[in-house]
Amino acid sequence: MATLIIAEKPTAMKKISEILDEQGKPKKMNVDGVTYYQAKRDGDDLVIVSALGHLFTIEEIKQPGQKGWSYPIFDMKWVPANEVLKRTKSKKQRKRALDVEKIVNNIKDLSSQCETHVNACDYDLEGATIGYNILQFCCGPEATKKAKRMKFSTLTKKDILESYKNPLKSLNFNLIDAGLCRHEVDYVYGINLTHALTLAAKTAEGINYYLLSIGRVQGPTLATVFEKEKQINVFVPTPYWQVKASTQLNEKEYDVDFSKAKIQYKKEAEQVINDCKNGEGTVKDIKTKESTNAPPIPFNLSSLQSESYRYFGYAPTQTLNIAERLYLGAYISYPRTSSEIIPETIDIKDILTKLKSIKTYTKYVDEIFAKPDLTPTKGKKTDPAHPPILPTGEVPAKKLSNLEKNIFNLVVRRFLALFGDPAIVTSIRILLELEKYKFYLRGRRIKVLGWMEYYPFAKSKEIILPEIRQGQKMKLSMDLVEKYSSPPSRYNQNSLRKFMEKEEIGTKATRASIIDKLYDRGYLFEKSIHISDIGAAVSETLAIHCPQVLSIEMTKQLEKEMETIEKGQLTKNRVLDDVRNNLEPILMDFKDDEQLIGNDLAVSIRKTWKRQSYIGKCDKCGDGDLIIIRSKATKKRFIGCTSYPDCQNSFPISQRGKISPMPKKICAYCRDKYNKEYPMVSIKIAGSRPFNSCVNWVNHEDIQKRYQKKKEKSKKASNS
Ligand SMILES: [Zn+2]
Ligand SMILES: [Zn+2]
Repeated sequence: MATLIIAEKPTAMKKISEILDEQGKPKKMNVDGVTYYQAKRDGDDLVIVSALGHLFTIEEIKQPGQKGWSYPIFDMKWVPANEVLKRTKSKKQRKRALDVEKIVNNIKDLSSQCETHVNACDYDLEGATIGYNILQFCCGPEATKKAKRMKFSTLTKKDILESYKNPLKSLNFNLIDAGLCRHEVDYVYGINLTHALTLAAKTAEGINYYLLSIGRVQGPTLATVFEKEKQINVFVPTPYWQVKASTQLNEKEYDVDFSKAKIQYKKEAEQVINDCKNGEGTVKDIKTKESTNAPPIPFNLSSLQSESYRYFGYAPTQTLNIAERLYLGAYISYPRTSSEIIPETIDIKDILTKLKSIKTYTKYVDEIFAKPDLTPTKGKKTDPAHPPILPTGEVPAKKLSNLEKNIFNLVVRRFLALFGDPAIVTSIRILLELEKYKFYLRGRRIKVLGWMEYYPFAKSKEIILPEIRQGQKMKLSMDLVEKYSSPPSRYNQNSLRKFMEKEEIGTKATRASIIDKLYDRGYLFEKSIHISDIGAAVSETLAIHCPQVLSIEMTKQLEKEMETIEKGQLTKNRVLDDVRNNLEPILMDFKDDEQLIGNDLAVSIRKTWKRQSYIGKCDKCGDGDLIIIRSKATKKRFIGCTSYPDCQNSFPISQRGKISPMPKKICAYCRDKYNKEYPMVSIKIAGSRPFNSCVNWVNHEDIQKRYQKKKEKSKKASNS
């Protein structure tokens, strides 16, 4: 009898198969479009299959005869994801439903021929849950009870073989319970709040359907952004003045700081400049300070996301996705980790030796090996499942994309920096006096580069001053600059993620994608995060009618309870009961106020609709607005004027894709050619890049020509 090994993703399945097969040539099998592998090791037959993310999902148990949406919902069950997906309208989802169904059936078939079962999904909450569900549903409770667990942190040969030879003797059922619980709790929050909000909006006049979706951790996160938005809105900037001074030394210009950074009254600032006119500053004091910059600590997911955002501007989800790909290529270790301490079991020398073969790093590795001590720095955080994010030493065989190259380089250099010497920075502060005023000229020099040689991202700018002596005179030029006090700064995706981390809501693996979802739903927009009308309305509504679900404190509490399940100190059902006892009365109260809430929400929904369909001012009547209209007769959409029937202006528009208005943008072509201002729209068709189009595109010559050609071609084709 054979052994069934379950991997989390197709790429991991392939890699694991290649490593486990003694010849390195596993047999690639294909049944009904589903790929799996057969391998041989120590006389055993191995069958390696793969999940495709979550193959199983949660569904509400409907009461007999119940149709449509309702709430509260607390009865639910796990089902194969295809059962839910096949009912959706999205073509893509229905295709996925088919794929999932085939995979599930294939694993069922293969399982019946296997005696031993091994979960080889990623070693964390998600991997435990994905593997458990497959075992339970496809292989049966007996197989689940006896199943083994491969635990590895890299997809390298060494780690995979080791974890195959010495698997954990059973699944970690506490971890599985915690994983299942997290999904079930999130489901309960998500479905109830989404149904409650959407059904409330539906009670308002003219709102037939507007999906208002919100999740357990999304709620408090959205509320946090809303709070910030309110602070920014009520902020009144106050003016202040600055004396901007500079001096020329050896033909180079240096900034000089006036002792008072903010001057409240313009008069006062003008006085300074007047008094100092034509004068020269005299060097009264020279202070030199040396500061030591210790090498950084190992990367965990959070610090990798922060550094990647800082140096490359990659959003946290993007960084995680890139890191995930590098992990699947076996180039770096598992990225979803909190650890900042490299365990002793990791063969540091081996990794360094392998990295040495990459030209860019050879010199650094030699330097590190020449050191008397090979102890890496460490932080405080630990992770029972995985080490920090480390390079494996594996040299990328495939050509990496630029994004992958950047993250790979960042991870390798960070690793090298752990062995570096402290950097030493010398700063100089020179006091200049002019009349009764004090000015400071500052210099900064990196005296010892140390670890920054390996990790140059962290190198700060140097200001190298020439030799300066006591009593030296310097001519200062000065400008008056008017400034305004700035409002609290907005969150960006990384600072919001860090806020969630600090408040302990969500998990390291989910925070970034929770923020992404808030963007997808149209609640948040722009890199420097703004909240939309509809996002504010959802946040406001929940704040008034069920503030508990926005409470960071309560969300954190629930996270703690779920962690307790992992430790085996609390059961899943206990936590679910608590959630129900908490949510049910809140939802019932919400229902009582449905009409009221609906009217509030409707105001923002109408505003949003209007903004989404507004294209620009009408070019013909100059009175109405051009908006996207869907014809009741043909069901086709076009752009028309709000002054219809007085104004009959209309434009055809693509029937496919998502159309977004581009306020403030006008077509340059039409302006030059027709001397008229036509608005532009952005069209995003699934699977391709968004493109901009003028509403008057039918009168663009190049487009006409292209159409002409197409017509001729099809004519020729039909003639011949
Ligand atoms: Zn018009
Ligand atoms: Zn145009």
